[in-house]
Amino acid sequence: MTVTVVGSIAYDRVKTPFGERERMLGGAATHFALAASFFDSVRAVGPVGDDFDDFETLSLRGTSIDDVERVPGGKTFFWHGEYGWDLNTRETLDTQLGVFETFEPKLSDASKAAEVLFLANIQPDVQRAVREQSAAGFVAMDSMNLWIDIARDSLVQTIAGVDCVILNDAELRQLTNKPNLILAAREVLTMGPSVVVAKQGEYGAALITDDEFFSLPAYPLESVVDPTGAGDTFAGGFVGYLAKNPGQYRMAMAYGTALASFNVEEFGTERVARLTLEEVEARVSTLGAITRL
Ligand code: AMP
Repeated sequence: MTVTVVGSIAYDRVKTPFGERERMLGGAATHFALAASFFDSVRAVGPVGDDFDDFETLSLRGTSIDDVERVPGGKTFFWHGEYGWDLNTRETLDTQLGVFETFEPKLSDASKAAEVLFLANIQPDVQRAVREQSAAGFVAMDSMNLWIDIARDSLVQTIAGVDCVILNDAELRQLTNKPNLILAAREVLTMGPSVVVAKQGEYGAALITDDEFFSLPAYPLESVVDPTGAGDTFAGGFVGYLAKNPGQYRMAMAYGTALASFNVEEFGTERVARLTLEEVEARVSTLGAITRL
């Protein structure tokens, strides 16, 4: 199967207690594509400015960049963040939408025809414009607190048109105004999707459907260097695995979890860019062993 992903393709400036990078490749669609490309062919959709010079990494493992629009004179999306000492808190110091400010997605026939679509984090109206062009039979999405704050109605409309919502636990609570995570996830299920995944950072992730609850801890790591993109890498592993193995939600959670664990061991895309499937499978197997009763 083919997975189309739309979302930010970015340059990030990041500082963590373990170091900093002034300008590293990032963006939700980038992290997603690097993970999903282990399982299926991926088509990345999104704009970049003429300052963008990381096509090689973006197209690793065969990801198609045919629908990555180069905007002459434009500036690539830029995000600047800083993490607290235990990496559980992060402050956004700057967000420059750049070429995303005027982005009107136009999917090629090949991207429209992909069986699976992932709407990575970006303005919810842009996500919907992509959803409307796509013929995908399975559509998943992410979002963030910014859009819950400033574009909630549009976000709820987008959620109504997808099969699977992947959000972090605080976002699920904020979106539904419900302090209990299970009730919050159930409320999102009433909006339209049939699957909700609650990402819980270092505590793992939970999957909630009308008749199932499943949860996995994060892979136990002694060294975490930069959590940027962990959520998108998880989503890439989860959705990519599902594209290849429809309905296999538990294994998809394990692959998402294993991939995210590699992502946080180094800055940005550095670790996942040189990762092998054998390394991922070894961690999936360990996750199986440490969660068996
Ligand atoms: P995560 O750590 O999974 O939340 O993803 C971080 C990535 O999201 C970074 O690489 C950023 O470039 C990107 N990002 C940050 N803010 C936004 C935003 N407002 N819209 C889209 N992408 C963003």
